[in-house]
Amino acid sequence: MKTSFAGQRLHHEATARIRRFLDQEQPGTPCLVIDLPTVRDRFTAIRDALPGVGVFYAVKANPAPEVVALLAAEGASFDVASPNEIDLCLAQGAAPATISYSNPIKKARDIAHAYQRGVRLYVSDSEQDVRALAEHAPGSSVLVRILVEANSSTYPFGKKFGCAPEMAVDLLRLAGELGLVPLGVAFHAGSQQLDPNGWDAAIADAAEVTAKLRAEGIALSTVNLGGGLPAGYLDPLPPLADYAAAITASIARHFGDFTPRVMVEPGRAVVAESGVLRSEVVLVSRKSYSDERRWVFLDIGRYGGLAETEGEAIAYPLRTSRGGAPLDGGPAGPVVLAGPTCDADDVLYQNTCYDLPLELRAGDHVDLLCAGAYTASYSSIAFNGFEPLATYCVR
Ligand SMILES: *Cc1c(COP(=O)(O)O)cnc(C)c1O
Repeated sequence: MKTSFAGQRLHHEATARIRRFLDQEQPGTPCLVIDLPTVRDRFTAIRDALPGVGVFYAVKANPAPEVVALLAAEGASFDVASPNEIDLCLAQGAAPATISYSNPIKKARDIAHAYQRGVRLYVSDSEQDVRALAEHAPGSSVLVRILVEANSSTYPFGKKFGCAPEMAVDLLRLAGELGLVPLGVAFHAGSQQLDPNGWDAAIADAAEVTAKLRAEGIALSTVNLGGGLPAGYLDPLPPLADYAAAITASIARHFGDFTPRVMVEPGRAVVAESGVLRSEVVLVSRKSYSDERRWVFLDIGRYGGLAETEGEAIAYPLRTSRGGAPLDGGPAGPVVLAGPTCDADDVLYQNTCYDLPLELRAGDHVDLLCAGAYTASYSSIAFNGFEPLATYCVR
């Protein structure tokens, strides 16, 4: 990854802070440690790279109250998906006007809850939901989410969210007829988007919907580009500036003379790099005398918070208490990594090649780096009796 000198220094400081916490406190494992200065640094880097753009933090990536409070204090806005996420943001100091209820799938009573709390911005993708918004959140602003073709992101969103652009035109028109404010088009171009041009096709569709309605006198003002900004796992990333340049150029190219207000909803890019997940080796074993690969069972797996290892989509950098072989050149060999539960799917990596120290034993620590996003929030509360993943924040 291309990091500036300042970025490297911050990274070393963050690592030192997290190590000091782990050494001093010796918290039980597994646990997630979040370095709050890194969260602040990532958020401000995104905000500074995209001047004039509304940055809505996607709370589901890491809903730790300390993270939400810090971002609220920094002036972030918030993308939420449920009444509990709304109440969390409000309790941590967010103003209702900074909250976007971006989940198109909501119960009427959840809309009423949001409206009663002062939320006035919603994302929709269906006639039923637009009608529910008109009834339970009258006068609110509405973005309509469009479907996005599968693309180069690590996690395309598939067909669950959004509607065809021609349907979005009708829904925005309907929103206006029902007394809502038709604000614009939203989409999500897929998470961990490694191509800075990955938003271009959807921006083109959004511009077309916007132009069509503006020609009818319905003055859409906004485009919501969703999430997708990536985090630095094992593979190198294009610099954030390349993403900002590509997105700005796409908007200018497709929207032409009309300059929309722009929203982004980063989750992963704000919090992933701030987190270290400490786990303990439960067992190291072999399955046969001929197979060179050892099986390393950790005290965290797919159900304890590592849901994003499904399909081995996200490969976390690892560091062990026996040294980060092969980083330090010690003797190491290939492993399969698995979780502790009695579920056959609770295997983390069997196709991704990880070499870990030959010395690795039960009781050693394995730290998963860049683990601040989509870990604690995915942890089950008690599958097989294992505790949910605890989060600690350091400042
Ligand atoms: C999850 C989600 C995001 C955040 O996506 P990242 O890829 O983590 O940036 C943003 N917007 C919506 C609507 C989401 O569902």
